[in-house]
Amino acid sequence: MALDRQEPNDKLLEQFGRQILVPGIDEQGQLQLSKRKICIIGMGALGTIASQYLVRSGIGEVHLIDPDTVEESNLHRQINYSLNDIGKYKSEISQNILNSINDVTTISSFPTTFEEYLKEQAIDHFDLIFDCTDSHQNKIFSSKYCKKKFISFVSISINSSDGIYFSQNYKNQNKTSSCFECLFPQSKYDHRCLNSAMIGPVAGFVTSLACTKIIFALANQDLRLKSEICLIDLLTSDINKLQLAGIKCPH
Ligand SMILES: [Zn+2]
Repeated sequence: MALDRQEPNDKLLEQFGRQILVPGIDEQGQLQLSKRKICIIGMGALGTIASQYLVRSGIGEVHLIDPDTVEESNLHRQINYSLNDIGKYKSEISQNILNSINDVTTISSFPTTFEEYLKEQAIDHFDLIFDCTDSHQNKIFSSKYCKKKFISFVSISINSSDGIYFSQNYKNQNKTSSCFECLFPQSKYDHRCLNSAMIGPVAGFVTSLACTKIIFALANQDLRLKSEICLIDLLTSDINKLQLAGIKCPH
C-alpha cells in the first residue's frame, strides 16, 4: 500500500520512529525501505522469523513462497504457526498473521515452489531474494537466477547448533561473481525438516543476523549489501567471516 501523500513522513515517524533513530537508517532510509520489494523463499523456521522482522521493518512489498503445509513437528521452531494451522499452507497462514502489522507492507503468499512461482511472476524489478529454504538444490537455483537477473541474494541455513549466512550483491556485480554452488558444491545442510536436528534459538540467531544486514542494505539508496559468508557456531560463540572477492564462477 502506498503511503498517503498528505502525511508521508509523519506517518513513518510515528510507526518506525525508533528504527529511524538508528544511524544508517534515518528518515530517508525508512522511506527507501517502504519502496523496496523482496521475496522470502521457504516459510519454515528461518522464513517465519525473517517474515516477522522484515515485515515489521516497513519494507514495501514482501512475497512469501512455500509449497508446504504446517505439521505438528514444525511448531517448536516455526513461529508463525499454532496447532490450529496444521494442514494449512504455510505461506497463506503467514500472510494472514502478518497482514495486520502495518499498512506500509503489501504481503502476498504463494503456496508453490520458487521455480513454479517464477513461471507466473515477473520479479526482475525486485530488490532482493532471501532464500530461507533447507534445500541445497533450491539455493543453487535461486542464487543462479538472481545472478542472471542482477538481483541481490541472501541465503541462510542451519544445522544443530551452527549456521551459514551467504550474501551476494549481484545487482552491482559482473558475471563472474560466485553463485551458491561455487561455495557449497555439496552440503551437510541439505535436509528435510523431519529428519534434521534443530532448535528454535539457532534459527532465531542466524535469521536475526541476516535480517539486520538486509534491513541496512535495503535502507541504503544504493543497496549496499556486502558479498560475504558467515560461519556461525552458537555452542562455541564463534562467528567466522569470509569476503567473497576474487572467486570466479564457472557456472
Ligand atoms: Zn558458480
